[in-house]
Amino acid sequence: ESNLDGKYTFANFIEGDCNSLARNAAKAVADNPSNTAFNPLVIHGPVGLGKTHLLKAVGNHITAKFPQKSVLYVTTDEFTNQLVTSIGNNSTNDLVNWYQNVDVLLVDDIQQLIKRKKTQDVFFNLFNVLRHNNKAIVMTCDRPIIELDIEERLRSRFQWGLTADLSAPALETRMAILASKASANEVHIAPPVMEFICYHIQNNIRQLEGVLNNLVLHSGVNNGKEIDLNLAKQVLKNFVTEINKEVTPEVIQRTVAEYYDLEVDKLSSSTRRRHVVMARQISMFLVKQFTDQSLKAIGRLFGGRDHSTVLYSIKTVRDLMETNDEIKKDLADLERKIRAGQG
Ligand code: ADP
Ligand code: MG
Repeated sequence: ESNLDGKYTFANFIEGDCNSLARNAAKAVADNPSNTAFNPLVIHGPVGLGKTHLLKAVGNHITAKFPQKSVLYVTTDEFTNQLVTSIGNNSTNDLVNWYQNVDVLLVDDIQQLIKRKKTQDVFFNLFNVLRHNNKAIVMTCDRPIIELDIEERLRSRFQWGLTADLSAPALETRMAILASKASANEVHIAPPVMEFICYHIQNNIRQLEGVLNNLVLHSGVNNGKEIDLNLAKQVLKNFVTEINKEVTPEVIQRTVAEYYDLEVDKLSSSTRRRHVVMARQISMFLVKQFTDQSLKAIGRLFGGRDHSTVLYSIKTVRDLMETNDEIKKDLADLERKIRAGQG
């Protein structure tokens, strides 16, 4: 029972729209494991979103609050291995008896039941005994139960209680999680750097922790220095391929042309139609901002215009950004698309 890993608690589980139903259901079971209204509770969702964290938080909470209760956490793989061993030395009855005597059973990753006919049989009987005796059962799964390819009688029982899903957290929730883990590690990450990181790591909190661990490692070398954007970019390169893509003038031209629904060569043509001129000026502005091309080089990229035309374009866009909300929004959209390598 020491496999509960005290570091996973409700206190350090950050709540958001993506997880509040699952979190609250888990907390309700943990606060009152003998109330079997939610029995079993099944938490499902893709990898890295906090299923194991919540399951172990239930265990830790009950262990602290009800020391007389026996709580058992097991992964489905471990359960299968124990079963296989017990079959090998004729002690399956002992194993089953032992499991039947727990007050709270926490089973991680029940998708691992798939194809294991014998494990499903044994688990079916165990489930019935525990539930009959009002013992709390909480399980996690990487997919909704309805999509879990196991014996029907087992699947229908898994649906008797409550199922709650975890989905990918919004940017702000990811930032709150990162902030909380950063402060636990005593590193400081400025909000814009945090936003940059969380913008790029979207679907997996474990990966967010991986980034943080790397940042901690490097900031240790820098000795107490605040983590800056450059360091964050360096580290993220190992996690997100799109960061590796250098922003080129071609990517910018393509992104802008697509955004304004123009053909790319219009940007370097001599057309003076208003919306083409606007798109051309915005492209020049963005090339200046994202690359280290000289004004002269930028002029060449846009059909051989001279450097004063480029300078004038850049100034025009800069002025418009102050006064024109629509242009401001367009630029924010474009910058995001270019950064995300969607060009
Ligand atoms: P899963 O079991 O769903 O694959 P885990 O529970 O192992 O995911 O979570 C991966 C990591 O992300 C863990 O270290 C966990 O602490 C962390 N984590 C996930 N969601 C949250 C959250 N809402 N608040 C704090 N940490 C979280
Ligand atoms: Mg897990």
